[in-house]
Amino acid sequence: MMDISVVIPLLNEEESLPELSAWIISVMEANQFQYEVIFVDDGSRDNSWQIIEQINQKNANFKGIRFQRNYGKSAALNEGFRIASGNVVITMDADMQDSPDEIPGLYNMIIEEGYDMVSGWKKVRYDNTLTKNIPSKIFNGAARYASKIQLHDFNCGLKAYKHKVVKCIEVYGEMHRYIPVIAKWAGFSKIGEKVVEHRKRKYGITKFGWDRFVNGFLDLATITFISRFGKKPMHLFGLYGTIFFIIGFAISFYLIGEKIIYGNDFGLTNKPAFYIAMSVMIIGVQLFLAGFVGELVARNSTERNNYLIESKTGF
Ligand code: UDP
Ligand code: MG
Repeated sequence: MMDISVVIPLLNEEESLPELSAWIISVMEANQFQYEVIFVDDGSRDNSWQIIEQINQKNANFKGIRFQRNYGKSAALNEGFRIASGNVVITMDADMQDSPDEIPGLYNMIIEEGYDMVSGWKKVRYDNTLTKNIPSKIFNGAARYASKIQLHDFNCGLKAYKHKVVKCIEVYGEMHRYIPVIAKWAGFSKIGEKVVEHRKRKYGITKFGWDRFVNGFLDLATITFISRFGKKPMHLFGLYGTIFFIIGFAISFYLIGEKIIYGNDFGLTNKPAFYIAMSVMIIGVQLFLAGFVGELVARNSTERNNYLIESKTGF
């Protein structure tokens, strides 16, 4: 089996590709690795694909697949994972912000220290402080809190995986930011971290704008919800729905009782409590119904009985 598959998603990175591949070759040869490099061209509009073809002609260890259009980094990684055949799979960005010199270290952590996955940590970062570095600290704090995985840099492009891990996980949408969470959720809990060198972008421009953080937080909410309640939505919505309904019901009960006992001159609808009770009851019913619909969806999902089997004996 091949030692390493390097998966590189890219969008319009023509200037970087020749330098990046030369650098990868020198690292691989110095360490005598058996390797392949899989470029996934995520719908580039520049000459990236022609350059990949040229690189492949010179060195057959370099392969490429090209998307018909831009599907996003997660899609590119997912396709790369599907065809990667190395014992260890390493992902890195194509813009040379990640250094190929980190490959041997990452490889050793997987092979010798037995990590399922190792994530790079750009401890010293060469990006814009205001638009990237500070939001990223907040984002990582939230991800740590929600996932209970102690990583400083969830979204680092440079990561290494055991072969089995990439075959078991599915990355879609913009979930590439949460691959550690997806891996943990699939049962791969030995997740490590390695401080890696980060470099300034030499050519081209960043492909992600400020909206990355908005989307990042929404995706975090989704992934936390799915991992905790995806298979049992009623446990969340049913609980809160019931609590809300009971509170609303109790208030109405009290109001009606008060009206009957004291029978005084105020109208029932003249009290704020009446409106509170009504809203709370309606919200409760809605939550309950959301849970119910969620259960029906989960019940019809083709995934509902997909489990990862670690090993079997006696069959
Ligand atoms: N990328 C991609 N598809 C996209 C956006 C980005 O394959 O839709 C690639 C991009 O070419 C680069 C990597 O993902 O190799 C990281 O992107 P970028 O360097 O722009 O992100 P940043 O370093 O600014 O966070
Ligand atoms: Mg970059």
